[in-house]
Amino acid sequence: MVKNVRDLKLKGKKVLIRVDFNVPVKDGKITNDNRIVAAIPTIKHVSEEGGKVVLFSHLGRIKTEEDKLTKTLKPVGERLSQLLDREVKFVAATRGETLENAIEELKEGEVLLFENTRFEKGETKNDPELGKYWSSLGDIYINDAFGTAHRAHASNVGIAQNLESASGFLLEKEIKFIGGAVSNPESPLVAILGGAKVSDKIGVIENLIEKADKILIGGGMMFTFLKALGKNIGKSLVEEDKVELAKSLLEKAGDKLILPVDTVAAKEFKNDTDFKVVPVDKIGDDEMGLDIGLDSIKLFTKELEGANTVIWNGPMGVFEMENFAKGTIGVCEAIAKLKGATTIIGGGDSAAAAIQLGYADKFTHISTGGGASLEYLEGKVLPGIACLDR
Ligand code: ADP
Ligand code: MG
Repeated sequence: MVKNVRDLKLKGKKVLIRVDFNVPVKDGKITNDNRIVAAIPTIKHVSEEGGKVVLFSHLGRIKTEEDKLTKTLKPVGERLSQLLDREVKFVAATRGETLENAIEELKEGEVLLFENTRFEKGETKNDPELGKYWSSLGDIYINDAFGTAHRAHASNVGIAQNLESASGFLLEKEIKFIGGAVSNPESPLVAILGGAKVSDKIGVIENLIEKADKILIGGGMMFTFLKALGKNIGKSLVEEDKVELAKSLLEKAGDKLILPVDTVAAKEFKNDTDFKVVPVDKIGDDEMGLDIGLDSIKLFTKELEGANTVIWNGPMGVFEMENFAKGTIGVCEAIAKLKGATTIIGGGDSAAAAIQLGYADKFTHISTGGGASLEYLEGKVLPGIACLDR
């Protein structure tokens, strides 16, 4: 078991908290503050327990010096201050005397945020000197940034090597639900996989084929499987170089693997076009499948009945277009109806789909990490978790 922030004595300690404040910013304004809101329970806990809170995060990618002008965490500090209804001291530096003094002057419960960790070149290289330096600024390290847990950076792995360390509440939840579903699921486990490409999901499919009782495949990737079965898929999304792999996965999975029986076919990739539901072996040469059809929704709903654990990664269709969102909505509905099951979404677009379509509160857990949740679902050890004390 990874240690958690609630297990530690925090009073009077300088607590370094790696949060995920990688929020979208446009013209200096934060356009979505979900990630800041999500970090608050851990911050509040440390503050209320009398810890001195030192926050840091990356924001975007830094390639040039100009990037630093738009990728500052300053507006994040302002928003956080509003949300916490207390002062957040922002230090526009990632090292040096100003930062060190500001941390030394913190009183119990006070909150400080320092500048974007990626302003330091050594951050993404996990430069040992940088990790050591940052760790020298505090007494305890808390990681609450799941989104970067699949990377070994100075601000997670580097610091944790030198300090007593634990997870925050957000990271703990990811470990409990995604980690739990992959390593020790309550059966029957049903995995639903979709999204754009087979190639992005090979590791996930291979890992879950071993563990799941059923694998339901939808989304763009279904057509590579249908092609492997010798079907005509028209102009649908396909990865020719993955057809052989799909064949061997179909063989390996046997009747565990369930493919859609119909698809919503259109001649053009846009919402405003004619579309019709056709069986998967009746796709015209000039058509492409952009969603799963009603019979497939019924089939998937039936296969989900009785599941105790559901892992979902990848939308069933082009949910961004209203006319091709019904498959994804149908699967949301089917999952919402399950009683007592642990239901989990991993994957950036799948999470966005469930939230956008209004099903956010119907799932046990919606992961906050895109790449990190994919790697977790692949069964990989995530360095940002492995580095924490047990
Ligand atoms: P996640 O981020 O949840 O892992 P992906 O990034 O793999 O999911 O896939 C999401 C994308 O897949 C969406 O943008 C969606 O429009 C696209 N998609 C789903 N079904 C199809 C399809 N039949 N044809 C083309 N694109 C599709
Ligand atoms: Mg995606």
